[in-house]
Amino acid sequence: MYKVALIGNPNVGKSTLFNSLTKSSEHTGNFHGVTVEEKRKIIKFNNSEYEFIDLPGMYSLNYFSFEEKVARDIVVNEKAYRLVVVDANSIKRNLYLCLQLDELNLDYKILINNYDYFSKNKNTINIEKLSKLLSKDIEIINAKKIKLNDNLLKNLKINNNFNKKIDENRNFSNNFQNFNKNLIHNNNEFNSDFKIKPYLIDIVNELKSTTNLDIKSIIYALNGLDIAIDEKYKSIINKSIERAIKARYDYIDKVLSECVHFNRNYIYGSSKADKFLLNPFVMTIGFLALFLLSIYVIFFLLGPIISDALNLLLDKILYTPIMNLLYMNFDNLWLIEFVEGGVFSSFATVVSFLPQVVLLFIFLTLIEDSGIIARMAYVFDDTLSSFGLNGKAVYVMLMGIGCNTMSCMASRNMNGKNLKIKTAILNPFVSCMARLPVFVLIASAFFSKFAFLIISGLYILGIVLLLIIAKILNKTILPTKSSELLLEFPLLRAPDFKHILVVAKVNAIDMLKRVFTIVLSVGIIVWILTHTTFKLIYTDTITESILFKIADKIDFIFTPIGLNSAGIVLALIVGIFAKEMILSTFSICNNALDNASLMLSLSLATSVISFTSASALSFLIFSLIYAPCISTIAVIKAETGRFYMWLGIIGEFTIAYILSFIVYQAFTRGIVFALVSCIIIAIILFAVIYLIKQIKNKKIKCLFCSKCNRK
Ligand code: GDP
Repeated sequence: MYKVALIGNPNVGKSTLFNSLTKSSEHTGNFHGVTVEEKRKIIKFNNSEYEFIDLPGMYSLNYFSFEEKVARDIVVNEKAYRLVVVDANSIKRNLYLCLQLDELNLDYKILINNYDYFSKNKNTINIEKLSKLLSKDIEIINAKKIKLNDNLLKNLKINNNFNKKIDENRNFSNNFQNFNKNLIHNNNEFNSDFKIKPYLIDIVNELKSTTNLDIKSIIYALNGLDIAIDEKYKSIINKSIERAIKARYDYIDKVLSECVHFNRNYIYGSSKADKFLLNPFVMTIGFLALFLLSIYVIFFLLGPIISDALNLLLDKILYTPIMNLLYMNFDNLWLIEFVEGGVFSSFATVVSFLPQVVLLFIFLTLIEDSGIIARMAYVFDDTLSSFGLNGKAVYVMLMGIGCNTMSCMASRNMNGKNLKIKTAILNPFVSCMARLPVFVLIASAFFSKFAFLIISGLYILGIVLLLIIAKILNKTILPTKSSELLLEFPLLRAPDFKHILVVAKVNAIDMLKRVFTIVLSVGIIVWILTHTTFKLIYTDTITESILFKIADKIDFIFTPIGLNSAGIVLALIVGIFAKEMILSTFSICNNALDNASLMLSLSLATSVISFTSASALSFLIFSLIYAPCISTIAVIKAETGRFYMWLGIIGEFTIAYILSFIVYQAFTRGIVFALVSCIIIAIILFAVIYLIKQIKNKKIKCLFCSKCNRK
């Protein structure tokens, strides 16, 4: 099998190329850091197998971020053909990486992409001349349209055997002397076929005379490969790295001046619209208005029509024929109830929201594809920095609107450990798409006219809480110094219709997969446990079932927030597996097959699960915050560790409880009682924060853990 790595700066079209060559539909995006880990796909071509690797974007081999390190390690260590994707519009910056590969004697081919936009702006490249000057195969491509062909991989060599040795050496040589011994030991392999680029000759010679490094080590050091370097040479090497950067760019300028014609009036990435978009007021109001409007249109205007039509269709082609068949052939009540209640109810409500969820994903993709997210990151960087986050968190939060699990993974892109932890554990405050149907249904059932306002309020509440807690964490256990945000503005461009279709398809399939795996299987388990007694006998009185009896024992915890019903507690517990399961559990318990009957049943006191307006509002707030789903918890643990995972879970549960308590009590016992409660809770919280600060400043000892060294 042959491996082919797609390498290049962020946002040059690597993922688009990967999708075209492998006929995949991986996520592409117009924001730096969309590809956090490499993606691989094996395909057959001309009777051979090829594994294509889509690498995260990298500006140079001297990495600054997690994703650049992932890419660098693969470029340097993996035996693969290399295709370097170069954006014609920023060719100068893109060629920098090519020069570094040349210096390390790594073979590659250059694919110039985004040429359509480049040439439309009256810019030209003399490819033949560029190819000659760089001594490289160069091809102009359109990543969206290209198909895998023989030419693409012609003449490519794999020559990175020696790089493995660098890593091995790094692992067992903790000091400079050891490293050199190993170098000498492997001398032949390291020194075969190695030429110093003309623009580096002076720098290399100077380093050779001032340090005792050999040429190979010098080249590696200049390219940021992690070799062991004696402390005393570090400052000289660092200065030389800066000189090498300048030498490379001077060389690229010289080459480009001979073969690229730039239109003088053309500045890549800038747009007249930016004057307007980069205004913080316009961006904040504009985005909020656009997002909430899209929720209104998708879930309140179109939503009921779509859901009703889909339910009607499913009823005609699925539920009625199957139920008729069962009624005609079986007289087993247990089986009939199981199929109706356990199977159909558990996915009917979730599936009826599928088109709306996909439409909202499309909206998010439009925002991303058009190049607005990077601008939002820039606009909000200062504000977010004052809360201990930074502009990059905007992207993570926006991803969170889609799926918290994905966005928690993206938090690893944040530079700095504390920043990463804060972004990951606070991310669940952004309501994900799985929670939205729960909000829409409950809010519509109990606050019909104000339902949209309440949902908008929930999103805003989530963001406000996220910022407040970020600030508290920043002041206490997770301080971050404000750092510079390195951002590239992608082009503002009209979204690609084909890409939108891909997103729609991918998200619909994803949601259906969840429905047919987790929703259905957990639904069946819930149905069995809500229809079986402790004596393992079938019962159609849910209140006698195993789950109800258990939930009944703990629902007193939720009495102060108005949710003292075993059914609601059950839905909240099941919701931890997947938030969609909250609605499914409601449907199973209330035996509802569509949204309309579920909404009606929830307001009837005689139903197994029912709410009053006060408990419904309390439930909305509680379910917004109380806990992330299990897959998000797993990612938080992987990204931040057990301690912060628990801190996040306990913190979110506590905040959810406090807020629901205040709101429920304000509704039922009056505003004065709620205000007094607020003051008492605030005093307790301040005392806790003060205590944490004292422990952190080592003014008092941590009572809970005698060995506590946490900083
Ligand atoms: P990556 O970060 O390098 O993987 O870049 P992506 O594949 O995510 O592409 C970034 C953006 O460029 C996406 O919106 C693509 O649709 C767009 N794009 C990719 N190739 C081309 C091209 O050849 N022409 C144009 N006009 N847009 C492209």
